[in-house]
Parts: sequence; C-alpha cells; structure tokens
Amino acid sequence: MLEDWVAFGYLISAVLFVIGLKKLGHPRTAPKGNQYGMMGMTVAVITTIINMHFLPGGIVGWTIIGSGLIIGSLIGYTMAARVEMTGMPEMVALFNGFGGAASALVALSEAWKWIENTSPEPGLAATVTVVAVGLSSLVGWMTLTGSVLAMYKLKGGIEVFGKWIRTPTWGPTWLNPIKGLLFISVLVMIYLSIEEPTNTNYIWGIIAISCILGIVLVLPIGGADMPVVVSLLNSLSGIAAAFTGFIFNNSVLIVAGSLVGASGLILTNIMCRAMNRQLVDVLFKSFGGSEKQELTRTKMGSDAEEVAMMADGAQKIIIVPGYGMAVSQCQHQVKEFADLMAEKFDTEVKFAIHPVAGRMPGHMNVLLAEANIPYEQLKDLDEINPEFEDCDVALVLGANDVVNPAARHDTTSPIYGMPILDVDKSRTVIINKRTMNTGFAGIQNELFGFDNSIMVFGDAKDMLQQLLKDLKEL
Ligand code: NAP
Repeated sequence: MLEDWVAFGYLISAVLFVIGLKKLGHPRTAPKGNQYGMMGMTVAVITTIINMHFLPGGIVGWTIIGSGLIIGSLIGYTMAARVEMTGMPEMVALFNGFGGAASALVALSEAWKWIENTSPEPGLAATVTVVAVGLSSLVGWMTLTGSVLAMYKLKGGIEVFGKWIRTPTWGPTWLNPIKGLLFISVLVMIYLSIEEPTNTNYIWGIIAISCILGIVLVLPIGGADMPVVVSLLNSLSGIAAAFTGFIFNNSVLIVAGSLVGASGLILTNIMCRAMNRQLVDVLFKSFGGSEKQELTRTKMGSDAEEVAMMADGAQKIIIVPGYGMAVSQCQHQVKEFADLMAEKFDTEVKFAIHPVAGRMPGHMNVLLAEANIPYEQLKDLDEINPEFEDCDVALVLGANDVVNPAARHDTTSPIYGMPILDVDKSRTVIINKRTMNTGFAGIQNELFGFDNSIMVFGDAKDMLQQLLKDLKEL
C-alpha cells in the first residue's frame, strides 16, 4: 500500500516538473513555472523521506534527515539571500557542480552498500549497476570540477594567495589527445569493473580521472564560448542524476535528471547557434580563447547632455543592453528612459537582445522583465538586425563583445563567426561604459573608434539618471 503512495508521489512530482518546464518556456509564464518546479521538488523530497524511512529496509533516521534539511536549507537560503544579481551566473555554475557531485556521491554510497551487502558476481544485474555507477561518477565528478572552474572563469580569474589572476584560456593541441585518453581510460575502467564488480579501486580511479577530465575540458575554453560550456554543464548535472536514478531504480530521479539533461542540451544547442559554433569545436578546438588585450586606444567621451539632444531628435532608438546593465542594475532607469522617449518625444523604442549578452542565458530578459518592460518590445538578434539600418540612435548600455564587428571579419579573433548585433549600421551609436576596457572575451572593440560612434563614459545608472534629468528639462 505504502509503495503505491510512493509511486503516486513520484508520478505527481514528475508531472509538476513537466508542467513547470513547459511554463518556463515563456517569460510571462516563467514565474509560475518556477512555482510548479518548487512544488514538484517538495513532493519529491517528502515522498523520498517516506520511502526511505517508513518502508521495510529503510535506513535513514530522523536525525540525519532533519540535519540534512536544516543545514541544506540554511546554506541555500544564505547563498540565495546574499548573492548579488551580478553573482547569479557564478552561483548557477556552482549549483550545476553541486548537482553533479550530489548525484555522484549518491551513486558512490549505493555502490558501496551494494558491494558490502551482496558481494556481487559478474552477470547482467552487476553489469547494469556497475555501468550506471561508472557513468554517474564520470559525469558527476567531471561536472563538479568543470563547474567550479567555470565559476572562477565567470568571475574573471582565480584567487591565489589573495591575488586575482586570470584563468588561462589557451588551447594547446596536446591537450586534445590527453582529453581523449582520459575519457577512454574511464571507459576501460568501467569495462574492467564489470569483470570484477567488487574491486573498489576502479571506482576511485574513475573518480580521480573524471575530476581531472572536468578541469582539462573547461580550462582551455575561451571567454566568448563560456555560455556553451555553462549550459552543457547544466545538462551534465541532469544526466548524472538520471544515471544515479537507474542505480536504485528511483523513477523521479530518472525523470527529473532526464528533463534537466534534455533541456540543458537544447539550451547548449541554442547557445552554439548563437555563437555560430559546433559543440565539438568548442570542446576540442578551444578557439574561443585569448589573452586579455591591454588598453591600446583612447577616445574622448561625450556626456548625458549631448545624448539627450541626440535622443530628442531621434525617431527610432534601439537600446542594446549588456553585462554592464547587470553590473549597474540600471534596468528601472532603462524602463523610465524608454517610457519617457515614447510619451514625451513620440519615439519608437525597441530593445535588442543578444542571446549571450550578460553572463547567463536569458540574463537581459530577466533584468528587463524585473523592470516590467513589455516582452513585445524585446527583439532577438535575427529580428532586430535588419532594423539597425533605419535606426537613428543605437544606445549600447554596458555591452561590448556582442556588438564587436571583429566577429564578422577578423579570423584571428576569438569571437570570429559569432553573430553580433549590427549597431554600427545605425546612424549614430552611443556606447555607455566606464572605460575603454575590454569585455568578457578580453578583446578590443573597433566599434568604439568608428566615426558614427560616441562614447559616454561612466556607470550606466549614473549616466541614465543624468540623461533622464536632462530630457525632462528639454
Ligand atoms: P561584455 O562583453 O562582458 O562587456 C560588458 C561591458 O560592460 C564591459 O566592457 C564593461 O566595460 C561594461 N560595464 C561594466 N560595468 C559597467 C557599469 N557599471 N556601467 C556601464 N558599463 C559597465 O558583455 P556583453 O557584451 O553582454 O557580452 C557578454 C560576454 O559574456 C560574451 O563574451 C559572452 O560570450 C560572455 N558570456 C556570456 C554568458 C551567457 O550565458 N550570457 C555566460 C558566460 C560568458 P567597463 O569596464 O569599461 O565599464
């Protein structure tokens, strides 16, 4: 009877996950999607506790369950409450890693229990378990080390003895055979453990090599290609969970893991298309890397007053937000500016959203939605690019790599081939950032030197506040 309720609980949570995922497909329904996901997870956790505690053979005591819940909730709450909006991408990367590690740890403990309790002989049942444990360990540990490294890369460096250094983004060709060798050696160890299921040395070997594999896979990947890697790691964390679900036949883990794995793969595909890359190229050619270029050019900056005068005469303005908008948290001022232009000057205002702008998929959409900017005003790259030619002012707010024309013609550039927002085709491009410094990919942007470009130096929020003041006085 209890088993039926457990199966029913898992079914309900799987259905809630699927509905949640469907609702996450549109910005308007996304908050509801999150709520469905949370409900699904709550049902899954309660069902698992019932399953582990009350069923015959259940092994988990209330002290362990209670401590896990309290410690986990406190850590999760503190991290979520303290994280700055700009730190969200790093936190997402870290959570991917924790997801992978959690699955791999569960796989490890299940394998241990299974070996100690049953002393398994080679055979079909042992093969299934050993392969699932091996694959879960491979994907889980690789996801952990890869994600921690990705987190530091998103931060822009690694702290060593209190000093920030940039993580290398080189791709020596000798790393590729090493990646292949490491991968093959894990597969060989999984194969060998089928013959000797009780030999735990293979599991330790798989764990060690998988950790190294995560590092060598992510280390050489260049800044501009990080979105692909982050979404791939997200997918891997789900795949690890699904493998673990197979080990002890847990249907909700298989369903939830497969959903995360599949949606992460779809996102990876979207990111690859956004960057005009093949996944294998990103992982094995490492052409997205570059040493950070030093500041070589300077340009006189303009000010908010001049921007106000240009905006006053513009019939069409396209706002191009980038990571700098997330840093300055100026989305509410952006909304006020867009409304003021439309109401006071009858200007057509649109937003151009590059798929990899910011530091996580959908970063700009999330921020602009927070400021209640109507979704209809947000245009994606393919839709907005033809419109720059008849645009009076393209206002680039803290964006850099996603508007860098080098992507079109400079074959040596790490962002070569990535579709960009064609802001340079507008009559005037106003670029607001604090300095002439490079963006995430670490490369100079020739757009800043174009004749139709005007730099306005300063924090985006300060600049917009001054611009709003000037516009209201006109
Ligand atoms: P970006 O190329 O990183 O440039 C952001 C610019 O914002 C910087 O040049 C910076 O210049 C400026 N900035 C920072 N703080 C500012 C502030 N308070 N006010 C005004 N400007 C400010 O950003 P992007 O054009 O959005 O391109 C995204 C990059 O991140 C791409 O290379 C992408 O591949 C990578 N990436 C994306 C994701 C993703 O999923 N979206 C994930 C990982 C990596 P100053 O310092 O001079 O102000």
